[in-house]
Amino acid sequence: MKLRGWLLAFLLGSANVAVAQLPPQTEERPALVVLVVVDQMRYDYLTRFGHEFDSGLKRLLQEGAVFTNANYEAAPTMTAVGHSTILSGATPSVSGIAGNTWYERAEGRNVTSVFDDEVTALGGGNGASPKRLAVTTVGDELKYSGKGGKVFGVSLKDRSAILPAGRTADGAFWLVDGQFVSSSWYFEQLPAWVTRFNDAKPADKFGGVTWVDVVMPEPGPELYDAIDSSPFADQLVLDFARTLLVEEGLGLDEATDLLSVSFSAVDYVGHATGPDTPRMHDMILQIDKRIGALMEAAERQAGEGKVLLVLTADHGVSPVPEENMAKGLPGGRYNTRGEREAVEAALTAAFGEGSYIEANGEMGLYLNADPVPGKKIPFEELQRVAAETLRQQPHVSRVYTRADLERGLISGDRIDRRVYNGFSPRHSPDVLVVHEPNWLGNGFGGTTHGSPYSYDTHVPVIFWGPSYLVKPGLYHDDVAVHDIAPTLASMLGIATPSGAQGRVLSEIIP
Ligand SMILES: [Zn+2]
Repeated sequence: MKLRGWLLAFLLGSANVAVAQLPPQTEERPALVVLVVVDQMRYDYLTRFGHEFDSGLKRLLQEGAVFTNANYEAAPTMTAVGHSTILSGATPSVSGIAGNTWYERAEGRNVTSVFDDEVTALGGGNGASPKRLAVTTVGDELKYSGKGGKVFGVSLKDRSAILPAGRTADGAFWLVDGQFVSSSWYFEQLPAWVTRFNDAKPADKFGGVTWVDVVMPEPGPELYDAIDSSPFADQLVLDFARTLLVEEGLGLDEATDLLSVSFSAVDYVGHATGPDTPRMHDMILQIDKRIGALMEAAERQAGEGKVLLVLTADHGVSPVPEENMAKGLPGGRYNTRGEREAVEAALTAAFGEGSYIEANGEMGLYLNADPVPGKKIPFEELQRVAAETLRQQPHVSRVYTRADLERGLISGDRIDRRVYNGFSPRHSPDVLVVHEPNWLGNGFGGTTHGSPYSYDTHVPVIFWGPSYLVKPGLYHDDVAVHDIAPTLASMLGIATPSGAQGRVLSEIIP
């Protein structure tokens, strides 16, 4: 008896040691992982408006692991790129998602990151799917591990719903004309609860409502259009996400479910007015409340201590150049068309009349590899002349050619590395241009993002969850947004997504 007791103690002791040294197997796991993305949320919105938060953002800042220096380490800093990176950990160099749109040489046309004419649109809009995403996501790996349950993505924008959820997601839903739609990539028809949600005409209650200095149009196409640039779009996304949690029964059993929710309206307001207006201020205060409501709904569904949440953004934004100029800060507008014309003129002068530019990309130009029929011009020569010309244009800071990027010939500061990480051999342009900081094109008003500079790359990253997963506090070290996916994979005890470039943020794991 005595001996058996000793033996039992010995065996239990050994077992404990063995368990402590093994990766997570059977211990507690969250029932629900929630990703919250706020489109175009600059990091400094947290520090500028933090004292006014009283809901979700306040909770995340007080109870979460807050990274004060998290950046995208790839450019272009665009919505599709950001959303494809967050839960895959992959930069465009690996994921293939090289922008919101790109010129798809194989198809001879411009495509969006999620455009797919082989699937059927369900409820409205165009056929869309994650087929162009070349890597797995946390959701895919959760399912593959056998520990995962359901995976969903929700947003106003198709790409922001589809890309974080991944290719094996159970569904992604986005807003078209005031209704939530999807595609036959996921199912043959919209789930019944989605149709019920839409039948109630959820957008119409915002007709005629006043927000800051804006009066919303009466219900109809004008309202559905205007809603994108108001906090009411985020309210719709929140209401839909809360309904999804209940209708799909997320967070209720042993399997870990994943819900990605991306709030897009901050981006629409930001493009139109910039980051420094009363509308933007109010948008961020409203986002605080939306996130709080989503956290409450997730906890109500899965139970307290069973939710692991990550907050981040897909990119930041530049201040409006004219406002910078008025303050004596750097910035302005360059002549977009003039740059293109200079390249065409230089190539014509060098090689004769021809059709040199095949397409405009978000970061540069796609060149025609055979611009003058019958004349064999080396493709690298075309790139070199185009690059030399662009380098001479006002406010161009750097120019990269496909040839240099494919050979890894980059000088290696942070801006160079971001361009290199953002270069997809299949999808990126042949000549890539980076302008001086805060210099934007002259073809539009307001402001935009896309550069490798910190105003576009520096975003919030906050992990919030049970104490066995997340050590709260402020973390000031440099981290990358592409560290989120490997960190979640470690916390969940699953394989790292296939294209992940980042490291595990082990400093926040107890
Ligand atoms: Zn965006």
